[in-house]
Order: sequence, then C-alpha cells, then structure tokens
Amino acid sequence: MKRVGLITSGGDSPGMNACIRAVVKSAIAVGCEVVGIEDGYQGMIEGRGKLMVYSDVTNIIQMGGTILGTARSKEFRTAEGRKKAHANLKEWGCEGLIVIGGDGSFTGAQILSEEFNLPVIGIPGTIDNDLYGTDHTIGYDTAINTAVDAIDKIRDTANSHRRIFFVEVMGRDAGFIALNSGIAAGADEVLIPEEWTDIKALVENVKTCLKGKRSTIIVVAEGDDAGGANDIRNHVAKDLEDYDVRVAILGHIQRGGKPTAFDRILSTRLGYEAVDSLLKGEKGIMIGVNGENICKVSLESAIKMHASPSQEKMALVKRLRTQSD
Ligand code: ATP
Repeated sequence: MKRVGLITSGGDSPGMNACIRAVVKSAIAVGCEVVGIEDGYQGMIEGRGKLMVYSDVTNIIQMGGTILGTARSKEFRTAEGRKKAHANLKEWGCEGLIVIGGDGSFTGAQILSEEFNLPVIGIPGTIDNDLYGTDHTIGYDTAINTAVDAIDKIRDTANSHRRIFFVEVMGRDAGFIALNSGIAAGADEVLIPEEWTDIKALVENVKTCLKGKRSTIIVVAEGDDAGGANDIRNHVAKDLEDYDVRVAILGHIQRGGKPTAFDRILSTRLGYEAVDSLLKGEKGIMIGVNGENICKVSLESAIKMHASPSQEKMALVKRLRTQSD
C-alpha cells in the first residue's frame, strides 16, 4: 500500500491531533503517503484532500481539536454521496482509509468498505468512551480532567454559600464521564443513564449529606434517564425548597483544550498501530487498548456492542456518600 486516506469524523476530541501526527509520521517513515481529508466524510465527498508532509504535523501534539477539521455529513449516509467520496479516494490513489471517530464514523467506514472493497481501520476518537472493545478512547481522559477541574471550582463556591449543585457533564447516552469525574471530584451523587434515577432517594440522600457538610455536588450525565441537570433540579425543586439549589452545565469546554499526557500517548500508540496494521493487510478492525496492551476488534463489534461503566465504581460512589458525624 503506497497511499492511504485519513479523516477525523464525528465529534472532535482532544488527542486527535496527536493521532494525526502519529499516522502521518509513521506512514511516511515506511514509504507510505497520507492524504489528509478535511472535515470528515463531507470533505471526502467534496474532494478536499491533500498530501500530508512532516511539516503539517509538527507542533500539533499538544493541540486540542483536529487540524483536519471534522463534520457530520448527511450526504455520506446516501449511496450517491458515498459514490462521490469513493471516486475522490480513487482519484487521490488511496488504497486504504484510516478513520478517527466514534461508532457513527465507523458505521460509515464499514459501509464504504463493503460497497467498494476498500480496506478501512478505525481509531476510537470520542470523549464519551462509549465504544466497545477498548478501555479508553482518544479524548476521554482529557475530558474527565477538564470536568474534575471545573467541579473542584464549583465546590469552592458551593461550600462558601451552602449550596447544592447539579453539575451536568457530557457523554451523550453513556455515563463514563459522569461516573469517573464524579469519583475524582468526590461528588456526593452521580446520575448516569445506565442506572435508573430514583428521585425520592436522591432528595433524601441530599438532605442527609447536608447534615454533614455545607455543600452537595451531584454530577449528572447529560443523557440520564431522568433528564439533564435542569430537569433534575425541577424534579427536586419542591422537596428542596428550603435549600439553595443551582445548576452548572459544563458543556463544550469538555471537548477542547490540551490533551493530557495519557491521551497523547494513547493517540500516538493507536495511530502508529493503525498504520502498521493497514500496511500488513489487516482491515475492518478498530485498534484499541486493553489494560496496557494494544488490542484489535472487528469494526462490526465496535459498532454493535456497547460499553458500560463498571458496577463496582457505582457501588463505591454509594458507599462513600457523606453521613452526619
Ligand atoms: P461521536 O461519538 O463523537 O458523536 P461519531 O463518529 O459517532 O462520533 P456521528 O455523527 O454519529 O459521530 O457519525 C459521524 C458521521 O459518520 C456522520 O455524520 C455520517 O457522515 C457518518 N455516518 C454515521 N452513520 C452512518 C450510516 N449509518 N451510514 C453512513 N454514514 C454514516
């Protein structure tokens, strides 16, 4: 294989640039060229690709976002759109494709691969960590650290004013960011979509907490079954009307910023391995990590199966709830 295409697709995540750098450098080092395609599948359809050189990827390992840009492409969901995209890949001479993205991006890659017999490799890039077949996705560690930093700051003011804070974090329909940032920030409650939210019990727990300390922090996953932080505040408003209840929605700050060392190392390993695998003739797989080791799973299972946060971690949040002395 002498030339491959590379896209970042779906939501951006910190570490994507470190991964682009690793793909480009490790491919060029073994005589394979990389066409960097702008704005994911949309740029592929519109013919916005360019041969990448070393200087394109210098000084980017520390940058959040993606230098290639990313987009959500409706047109790529159509056979006509994918035909245009494939024609451009052919024109550029790409014999394979590396896709950094989430399960939607992998679904698109899988369909393209089946329709045109194109070897594709997926690299998990999403802050949500919701992909089956890898312990970590690119950007997740940075997102948790951003959330923890923000929650620490909220706790300072909550404590000063004796407030209850519902802090909403991202994660779409997965609770990984909420659970892990909640544990790291010492939250009193963590509400995630994978576990039914009992509003009555929540109210009682908050009241118990407040007997022991000045503030209560409840981390809410944006996709929780009882709604986001505003919805939950509304559910409890009547029962907690004697308290000062506030909402903070962390939002897009969780997607940006410098990637952590963990994410840079992960991204670099996954990018290197994706090139190595593609050049060895492997295809239809996602490169991930299992513990300290690199692992590979079929794109099909990465798309179809779901990753869930650990029950053990949920149990520990409950056990560590504040009680009065
Ligand atoms: P994130 O988890 O950050 O949202 P993602 O990769 O899951 O990332 P999506 O918006 O679901 O993000 O998918 C990215 C793009 O992949 C879509 O905009 C679309 O172009 C393509 N795609 C997704 N699903 C399909 C599909 N069923 N058929 C063809 N293309 C698809």
